[in-house]
Amino acid sequence: MPNKKYVLGGGLAGLTFAHYCKDCEIIEKNDYLGGRVCSVMKEGTMIEWGAQFFSELDKYLLDLIKEVGLSEQVKKIPMKNFEIFDGNRFICLANEDTLDLDKKSKAEILKLHQSLSSISADIFDHPPKDLKDISFSKWYGKKIGNRTLPLINPIIRAISFNDASKQSAIYGIAVLEIFFNKCFDFAGGFTTLANLLKGQTSIRTNTNIEEIRVTKGQVSSIKISHDKKKEIIKIKPTELVVSSMPAPELAKVLKGSPELVKKLKKIKYGGCAHVAVKTKKRVLGKKLGVLFTDKKLIASAVFENNLKFDGEDSKLEKGLLSILIPYKKRIDQKNIDTAFKKMSKLFPLKENYISHETRYWDHGLPMCSKELFKTQEKIKRNVSKIKNFGICGDFMALPSIDAAIETGREIAARQSKN
Ligand SMILES: Cc1cc2nc3c(=O)[nH]c(=O)nc-3n(C[C@H](O)[C@H](O)[C@H](O)COP(=O)(O)OP(=O)(O)OC[C@H]3O[C@@H](n4cnc5c(N)ncnc54)[C@H](O)[C@@H]3O)c2cc1C
Repeated sequence: MPNKKYVLGGGLAGLTFAHYCKDCEIIEKNDYLGGRVCSVMKEGTMIEWGAQFFSELDKYLLDLIKEVGLSEQVKKIPMKNFEIFDGNRFICLANEDTLDLDKKSKAEILKLHQSLSSISADIFDHPPKDLKDISFSKWYGKKIGNRTLPLINPIIRAISFNDASKQSAIYGIAVLEIFFNKCFDFAGGFTTLANLLKGQTSIRTNTNIEEIRVTKGQVSSIKISHDKKKEIIKIKPTELVVSSMPAPELAKVLKGSPELVKKLKKIKYGGCAHVAVKTKKRVLGKKLGVLFTDKKLIASAVFENNLKFDGEDSKLEKGLLSILIPYKKRIDQKNIDTAFKKMSKLFPLKENYISHETRYWDHGLPMCSKELFKTQEKIKRNVSKIKNFGICGDFMALPSIDAAIETGREIAARQSKN
């Protein structure tokens, strides 16, 4: 095993690597660890800016949660209380008994449920090749028929910040599986997990990586800046550098490996603004959340946070509403105002409004198209040409928290074999 290991980026992928390998130093630009996992406690209310949900299919994550003893914080979400707004009405899709649809659509949704469970049984261990190669819309159209696609699209859009027509079938199926069957809430838990994973690792926060220099097939130096002071860390051939930065950020700083940079640039992300609105009381009533079919409504999802799932009446509690607004290029305050106006027509948001804050995620989630799988293979080949370098992160598997953990673990396992 190499002597010292530098981990670039302290998200869950980098932290997982550091957890399984000793003698690491994490370099992170933010003042907190977790990256796209970020729970902030404010006046007794937890704002979960980044990831909050996961699925029963996320086996690497579930193993880790068990290993560090956080299983009790996991709550199953009754998705039957999530509804879809199609521009005219709220529709509940998730539960056969309350399926508020005409006969034909109802039959199509039930068919979808059945085909999902038969396909998904071993989908992650042995994914059929064509599911990676075709788009979700094509697969769905062939299997179920195009009629209900407009109802399914918003689920994919809300979870991936991207359109269903651009996502691969395997990813769309995973998203639907989560939505219909197996979703858990882990609010606050991910940040606790990040802090547990850091363990005894040495960490430099508020430290920006400005350059990773590759010379003659190995990483020779890293340039960092902290408090306007710059430093160059010389890397010995016996040391290891593992990047867990999102692909576009790594592409910006990696020098001396143009082929790899070219491949990293091929990975496209969906961006997202998360508007957290403090309200006098909950505004969605009995609904936990609503997803939107109509892009003109701007938001892809709204959901109430800090919920009790046991049906207790909690009218007196203050509310916290999350509004997710996907974007390709940065949106501005005008878009957010529009989203507010539109949401206020559907829910009693205006009269219950107290304040709001927005957080922007330019690299919210990698887009899982068929190109992604091909690019991942090419990236792996290019990385293997650099002797003391490794890459992990959600863009190197089926994008999610589970992918971050899977890829962090994979590199750690490879290291301990060497
Ligand atoms: C709003 C939102 C909601 C989400 N919800 C879910 C969900 O419910 N379930 C789910 O499974 N997934 C969800 N995701 C996706 C999930 O958060 C990510 O897949 C996962 O957290 C990625 O982890 P990572 O370690 O690969 O990357 P990151 O968490 O992005 O970690 C990379 C780290 O590198 C650091 N870094 C980048 N550039 C530099 C630099 N130049 N110098 C130093 N450090 C740098 C970053 O600050 C960051 O800490 C969500 C994402 C967003 C944005």
